[in-house]
Amino acid sequence: MSRFSARQLFLTITIILLIAGALFVFRKPMTKPAAPVTKPPISQPSTPRSILAEPPDWDALDAFQNTISREEFERLLTTVFTTGQAWKNFIEIGETEASIKTGELPPADIFHLHFATSASQKVPSHWKTAADLPPTTLEKPLADLKITIDPGHIGGAWAKMEERWFVVGDGSPVCEGDMTLQVAKILKPKLEALGATVSLVRDKAEPVTTIRPEALLSVANESKSTASQESPQKLAERLFYRTAEIHARAKLVNESLKPDLVLCLHFNAEAWGDPNKPTLIDHTHLHLLVNGAYSDDEVSLADQRFALLHKLLQRTHQEEIQIGSSIASSFAKATGLPPYQYPPDSLNVRQIPDQPYLWARNLLANRLYHCPTIFMEPYVMNSTIDYARIQAGNYEGLREIGGKMVPSIFREYAEAVTAGLANHYRALRRTN
Ligand SMILES: [Zn+2]
Repeated sequence: MSRFSARQLFLTITIILLIAGALFVFRKPMTKPAAPVTKPPISQPSTPRSILAEPPDWDALDAFQNTISREEFERLLTTVFTTGQAWKNFIEIGETEASIKTGELPPADIFHLHFATSASQKVPSHWKTAADLPPTTLEKPLADLKITIDPGHIGGAWAKMEERWFVVGDGSPVCEGDMTLQVAKILKPKLEALGATVSLVRDKAEPVTTIRPEALLSVANESKSTASQESPQKLAERLFYRTAEIHARAKLVNESLKPDLVLCLHFNAEAWGDPNKPTLIDHTHLHLLVNGAYSDDEVSLADQRFALLHKLLQRTHQEEIQIGSSIASSFAKATGLPPYQYPPDSLNVRQIPDQPYLWARNLLANRLYHCPTIFMEPYVMNSTIDYARIQAGNYEGLREIGGKMVPSIFREYAEAVTAGLANHYRALRRTN
């Protein structure tokens, strides 16, 4: 037994020496000056994605084969959905198909989208346009329409963390997430009275996601860029209240609620500085947002490139423009608010032609919700006039504020959205 062990020991030592020798020989070239670093070839797969984004399911786009013409695809891609030229690094438009880089390994590295010929397929969708809905009466223009209201932000105890909160002296704190919920609760019965089925993604000042910032600290530590001044704690909080929260709302919208339309309610603001000593400004404005205007950086991320194509192919854009312009006109009529203008050199925004109040931007919610989605951005919370109206709260009738008789800002908001939707569906639905 011991003799056998000695032989085994001898063999083991011999093998170790042989391996060590081989390693030494293989290591030798490493002692020479390193060869110049070559860039990976362009076709080499890499999968940069947004933080917390799931890998895209490119096969889901197969449902859209033969549903869009080459001309329409190119028009939407270049005039609505992108702001730069980086898409050309990932999407090649051929005569009969678009070849799209997925960021996956071969053979899944390219997704082939076949353009429609004369006998094109119908666009698959679970949401309905005005023309798809059955005939209705003028009194119930929203009958059979499923609307989801997304009251922006979380509010309540989370408002300070989300930085959607400020207070002026001993006034009531201005908290966007509570204000959007207040509007949602006034809006819901108004839309229901016109026949709509209405759901809210949240009906209290609590997150929809079950993830909390502590659980995102390690992700924040890993993904924090060295150039950023933001602490990992701050980044983990932002990943919670923005990213994880919107992902949870998108799951609810896409998998359970499945509406025909989502209304994302917000109040706009301009930089207010210290939330305990905010800067109040003298002007207010209005704009609404639809999905589009993906920047070059965003197009380069696999998940956002996928979402861009999914939105483009679902043809939500035309519906968003029509509904958005109707709500914008009723809002402008009710409030007299002037249109907001983004700075002309903005790389992540596009103005919708002939629509002074409508802009395209790529936001997490309007990118992830699988149906037409309108973002409302009326008023400026830290303007002197809107601040005074917010302080006046929710009241019936009219009150004199800033020398004018005005309704409660929350009721005016809900009324304007309701009127815009009623006008749109009354104009485009068949009546019986
Ligand atoms: Zn907001």
